[in-house]
Amino acid sequence: MQFRAVKGMNDILPNEVGRWHRLEGEFRSLVALYGYQEVRTPLLEHTDLFARSIGETTDVVEKEMFTFERSRESLTLRPEGTAGAARAYVAHKQHGREPVSRWYYLGPMFRAEQPQRGRYRQFHQAGCEVFGDRGPLVDAEMIDMLCTYLRRLGISGIEVSVNSIGGAGAREAYRERLLDFLRPRAGSLSPHARDRLEVNPLRVLDSKDERDQAAARDAPSILEVLEDEDRAHWEGLCASLDVLGIAYTVDPRLVRGLDYYTGTLFELNATSGDLGAQNTLVGGGRYDSMIETLGGPSVSAIGFAMGLERILLAMPDDTPASVPRCYVAPIGAPAQHASLLLARELRAAGVTVDLDGRGNSLRSMLRRADAIGARLCLVLGDSELEAGIVQVKDLGQHTQDRVDRGQVVDRVARLVATGSRQIATQPSGDEP
Ligand code: ATP
Ligand code: MG
Repeated sequence: MQFRAVKGMNDILPNEVGRWHRLEGEFRSLVALYGYQEVRTPLLEHTDLFARSIGETTDVVEKEMFTFERSRESLTLRPEGTAGAARAYVAHKQHGREPVSRWYYLGPMFRAEQPQRGRYRQFHQAGCEVFGDRGPLVDAEMIDMLCTYLRRLGISGIEVSVNSIGGAGAREAYRERLLDFLRPRAGSLSPHARDRLEVNPLRVLDSKDERDQAAARDAPSILEVLEDEDRAHWEGLCASLDVLGIAYTVDPRLVRGLDYYTGTLFELNATSGDLGAQNTLVGGGRYDSMIETLGGPSVSAIGFAMGLERILLAMPDDTPASVPRCYVAPIGAPAQHASLLLARELRAAGVTVDLDGRGNSLRSMLRRADAIGARLCLVLGDSELEAGIVQVKDLGQHTQDRVDRGQVVDRVARLVATGSRQIATQPSGDEP
């Protein structure tokens, strides 16, 4: 009986993981420059947390959550990272420790969606949250940081869309305007959007259904009903983006899927690579009322989440060069034990070592050393042990040298560090 991975959940094999390390490493080092610190929250949370913060009438909560009962508690695999981070922020009274907190996270998320290219059931997000800064400077800085990140990974054709959905007042006013506009068009909406029209008309704007998109084409813009404070923030954001020289599109239809947003909303798309239809890499925005909704004080917040599988699809295929490796090939039992010690010493000196423990012929060990692209192969048999030396074969130069056992670690470490494939040709023992 063979097992398959669960639908929509992928293995990441060692030959792919180098690219993951690259994008994760770039992320961690860039956000650190902006003062973000990592937070790690559980993969499971109480279902209510997501219902409350993401919103009951969102796609995520309505149909995408992996939810199950355990000891009469309803638990859900996290579909996104903001709810857990906000819960932790409140639970640990973080607001009492510092006026502004900058947190980031990176890890798997779970949504029961129809799997397709760029859309999976277990996928990975990296995200940032800033608590306690009302913006708009921090909003613009966040977008700028994201552009820098994508550029550093070689992703081109980056498009930034921004919008503001204002505060509660503006949204209430807009709701009415939008309903006035959509009610006469309800007949042409998708059944799902029609059902939810009165509850959450804004979601029609975010629908991927062509019927909804067509009906919403000439809908009024929410920017028209912003209140003074919302407008000041919005203009502040646009001015800051201009100062930073970021080209952006104002998209009045950008409302995004999750209910918790207030004010600034943004998305980053890319045209490079192999993205296909799922070309939204990053979604983010301000959620100034969430902390209070979750029982905390009134603390403003802004964040984004980026889909790492989509980043990988957009990234050029420049697999990072592998580290120089050294292959240790022992012949016979005594040499095997001696090789265990030699390999340990080499690794302590920072050399990557593959020790062949299979007891195969020298020929087959050399073939294997070549196949993995090892730079050096160290051969050790009875006669080498007796003479107190190691044969060092340079697989690039096709040269070999007998090196004193006492000097071999130094010599190999130096060869690997300088990136040289050339083995020094002086006879062993004549080292300075
Ligand atoms: P979409 O409109 O594509 O469904 P979304 O609005 O549901 O996206 P968010 O919840 O804002 O997405 O998540 C932020 C980012 O996470 C997305 O822009 C995308 O890059 C990524 N993402 C979301 N869902 C998935 C998924 N099922 N598989 C892979 N990546 C995803
Ligand atoms: Mg979605």
